[in-house]
This record gives sequence, structure tokens and C-alpha cells, in this order.
Amino acid sequence: MICIAAVDPRTGQRLYPAYVPTTEPEVRAIAVNAAEASSRLAAKSRQWRAGLLETMATALDEERAPIVTTAASETGFGSDKLHAELARTTFQLRFFADVLHEGSYLEATIDRAGDTAMGPRPDLRRMLVPIGPVAVFGASNFPLAFSVPGGDTASALAAGCAVVAKVHSSHPGTSMLCYEIMTAAASAYGAPPSTLALTFGTDSGRHLVLDPHIKAVGFTGSLGGGKALLEAISQREEPIPFYGELSSINPVVVTPVAAHERAEEIGSGLVSSFTTASGQLCTKPGIALVPTGEDGDRLVAIAHEAVSKADPAVMLNARICADYQTGTRQLSGEPHVSVTVAAQAANSNGYHVLPQVFEVELDDFTSKMSEEIFGPAALVVRYSPDNLQDAVDAMLSALPDSLTATIHTGKNESQSELVAKLSSHAGRVIFNGYPTGVAVAWAQNHGGPWPSTNSLHTSVGATAIRRFLRPLTFQNAPQSYLPEELRDDFTEIPRRIDGVLHRAH
Ligand code: NAP
Repeated sequence: MICIAAVDPRTGQRLYPAYVPTTEPEVRAIAVNAAEASSRLAAKSRQWRAGLLETMATALDEERAPIVTTAASETGFGSDKLHAELARTTFQLRFFADVLHEGSYLEATIDRAGDTAMGPRPDLRRMLVPIGPVAVFGASNFPLAFSVPGGDTASALAAGCAVVAKVHSSHPGTSMLCYEIMTAAASAYGAPPSTLALTFGTDSGRHLVLDPHIKAVGFTGSLGGGKALLEAISQREEPIPFYGELSSINPVVVTPVAAHERAEEIGSGLVSSFTTASGQLCTKPGIALVPTGEDGDRLVAIAHEAVSKADPAVMLNARICADYQTGTRQLSGEPHVSVTVAAQAANSNGYHVLPQVFEVELDDFTSKMSEEIFGPAALVVRYSPDNLQDAVDAMLSALPDSLTATIHTGKNESQSELVAKLSSHAGRVIFNGYPTGVAVAWAQNHGGPWPSTNSLHTSVGATAIRRFLRPLTFQNAPQSYLPEELRDDFTEIPRRIDGVLHRAH
């Protein structure tokens, strides 16, 4: 049996303990228990579930030091980044507690019985109810915020669904530690056993998505991994939703006026964005459209200088490191592509790589150059400044759609047509900034057209909870059978009654 042990990517040293892969019968038993826990969670009030999330957040905050130390050794991320990620993680748990208290996520809607132009209408009362146990696949690049204690878990628990998390093989120790902290807190709070469970090993993920008790899947990872799990799900008797955050190029467009006004600022901001977290972010800007000419040259010169001075970066694991080496080698071998590589030699221990910035003229740009390179690299595509609209068309037609698209414009410039084009290819459009950094908020959308995701929902922000809910309408139900949010005298959440939105009192 091959055990799952993390490797310190800074040194290449194996870390202990190693974890035993969860067998198929064990996954089955875990899923049965999750179904029992889900039924009990669904019966709890919104306030009770909000309290559970807040309790888990407090417990994680109290164990900040060991969590950060363990995650640093398994991912190679610095402790500042991991402290910030843990703060985001516990913020996210508390944020979903707020979402529960506010209550509009239920979409509570009442149509009272009456006559209509098409005839008599029965009393109809609709709201969203928990979907059932959710399988969560933790992300390699966010051991906390998109893993065991992360956004998928927080939104599923908030919805009233038990969670079975398939641990990412890069950070099993961090996952286990967070699990132990969260389950101890949940148990002390009075949560049902198996509110949260873990499985280890690639096969366990497959068994999990095939288990009939699992009713939805949250996934953050590669396009290949996502497709393999989707393929497995297609073999199920009962189809279930698979919400995959997959792969994204995140184009950036710099207009000639923006380059004229802010060349240096944009050049350095771009490099800072694509080297953050060693470029291992799904929102990393992978391609930037920059004008030719003096202003664009200034921007590109700053970017080249920043990359040549950049420190070597540590990659999360051997596979991601090897993929980066392969991707950058292939891109630099493409015709007419030039490259600047960080000057400082990379440490040969562990998974160190060198940041790189590539450059090509738009006429030589091909869709082959648009494959995602997960890591600290980006491609600058140069276009003629008198041809911005055509350049954007050419770039977008060669790129797969993305989570984000970014535009840098001049102070008094209007580019509505361009923004409309970018909007049709991405889930979030950023003005005069950078796509990295995804705020947890009510209006957030972290999702986008295929292949960035396969879903119409966000995985970050308040409406991420929608993924783990299903609509249910009660027809002519006596008051005593209704959830309290649909009863006549309930006024604590916003509701639509006979077509009119009523505020909470
Ligand atoms: P990954 O290789 O797809 O792994 C993600 C999860 O899926 C892991 O738990 C993995 O299990 C599992 N898995 C992968 N292939 C599987 C298969 N064939 N059958 C069953 N389970 C499978 O993703 P990663 O490790 O994070 O690799 C990095 C890549 O993911 C990057 O290249 C990037 O493109 C993408 N990524 C995207 C986002 C995003 O939000 N869009 C975020 C992070 C990463 P094991 O752990 O057991 O291998």
C-alpha cells in the first residue's frame, strides 16, 4: 500500500506522519454517516448553523500557530501568506454565518391562493433546502481557504449539508490538523457526528463521487482532474452536480492611453500579480496585451527588469513543478517568442523554479501559446496601438474563456465596446487593477465560462451557498407543515409575497 506523505517543497524532504489511503468500504461507511449527519444538520435552524460556523472559526483562530507551521512545511508558502489565508478562511466561515442570519439566500417566496387571469391558483410557498452530503476536493494551492476549512466546506455546512473532504495529497497534515480542530469544536457545540469527514488517496475521491449518498461535488484543481471526476460521475445511476474550478488564463488588456499614463506602474504591478504565491493562483494573469511603441516598451522594460530581479519561486509539488518546467520550455521554443528569466540561480533542492516573462508580437501569437502555465510566468503580446479592437478580437479568439479579464484604461478614456467583449469571455472584469486577490463578499463572482468552470455559480462569496441547495415548493400546505421561513407570521428575512419583495423586520 502506498501511503500519502507530504514533501517539504523547499527542501524535498518527506514529511511524517504518512496517511493511509481510505479504502472503498471505508468511503462507503463515511458517506452513509454523512447522509445521517446531513439529515440532522438540515433540521437545525439557520441560527444554530451560524453558531456552528462561528465556533469552528474561533477554534481555527486559536490554533493559528500550528496550522501555519504545518501548512508552511507542506506547501512552501511563507508564513505571512498563510496567516493571511487563515484570516480569510475564518472570515469566510463567519461571513457564511452572516449569510445565514440575513436569510435572503433561501429565496423565500409566497404566492397566496387566489384568482388569476388564467384561473384559480393554489397557495404556493417556495424556498431552497439543503441538497445533501457534499464531497469537497481541496485545492493544492490554498491549503486552508479552498481546502478542508475552506469556502466549499463553509458554504456547504451553511446550506445544511454534511461535508466529506477528499484531502489534497500535497497537504495531508494541514488537512488532518484543521479537521481535528473543527470536529472537536463541532462536537463541543453539539453538532452531529460526521458533520465533517475526510478521505485520503486519489482513488478515494473517485469512490466518493460515485457513492449514491453524495449529492454534490465541489472541486478546485486541474482541467484534467475535473474531467476525470466528471467522467466518473457520468457513470452514476443518479446524476449529481459537479462544481469545478478548473483552469484560467485571465487576460489583461492595456490600452495605448493607459500605457502612456501608467507604463511603469502597470509593468511592475503585472509582475507582482503573476509572481504572487509563486504564480500558483487560478486568477494569475497569464497573458497581457500591451501596445508596441515607446509607452508599451517602457511598460515591458519594467516587467523584464522586475522578473530578472525576482527570487526563485517554490512550487507546491513535484507534478506542478515539472508541469511548469515543461510549459515554460515549450513556450520559449515557439517561433518568435523571447523570454526573460530571473537571474538568480534556483536552489536545486525541493521544487524551485525561476519566474519568467515571455514576449511575442500579435501577428506571431497562436492558440498554442495560450495554454495555462501554473506558476510565475506570463506572456506579453504586443499589438499595434492603432488597432486595439482588432487586437482584442484576435487575442480572445485564440484564448479559452477565463475566470477573469482585466482592462487598464486611461483616466478619461471610455472603452465600453472592449468591456462588453471581455465580459462575454469571463466571470469577473477588473478595471485598472489585477485579478489576483478574490475578496469574500456578497457581490463576488469566482466562476466563469468553460473551461474556467463548468458551472453557472461562484465558489467564493455569498451565493456560493446556492450550489448546495435545491428549490422546494409546498402547495396548499397547512402552516404547521411549513418551515418557519414560509409561515404567514414570519418576518425575519426578506421574502417575496405575491410578487412583491418584503424587507425583513
Ligand atoms: P489536480 O491534479 O486536478 O488535483 C485536484 C484534486 O483532484 C486532488 O485531490 C487530486 O487527487 C484529485 N484528482 C486529480 N486527478 C484525479 C483523477 N484522475 N481521479 C480522481 N481524482 C483526481 O489539481 P492540482 O493538484 O491543484 O494541480 C494543479 C493544477 O490545477 C494547476 O495546473 C491548475 O491548472 C489547476 N488549478 C486550478 C485552480 C482553479 O481554481 N481554477 C486552482 C488550483 C489549481 P490527489 O491529491 O490524490 O492527486
